[in-house]
Amino acid sequence: MLYAIDNIRIDGATYSVEWLESPDIPKACVAAVSYEKQKICIYKSHPEHDLQSLLHEIVHVINYNRLGEKLEESEINTIGCSLAQIILDNVEEIITMAGTGLTEIESDDDHEDLEL
Ligand SMILES: [Zn+2]
Repeated sequence: MLYAIDNIRIDGATYSVEWLESPDIPKACVAAVSYEKQKICIYKSHPEHDLQSLLHEIVHVINYNRLGEKLEESEINTIGCSLAQIILDNVEEIITMAGTGLTEIESDDDHEDLEL
């Protein structure tokens, strides 16, 4: 369940995720991220919309960390919505992709030879 997510790793940092019940906010502001506190707050509405909000805030973090905040809000919104739809339309494939990464880490003996 989406609302069971209380932490999420983004670019090597753990962001806390807080799901809020209050409707007493302007509709334009349903979510926010604090880079300094590594915290994402989302006012709950509908799970699919809230997934979009979570991904939107994740894209904000990527934009902040890696892109010098070059992306405009509308671009962040488009990417967040697109990612949400891709995830919702491809749940089994997403799980398979995640499992593939785990399998490679567990079974790839070549990594033992790497000098770090
Ligand atoms: Zn935004």
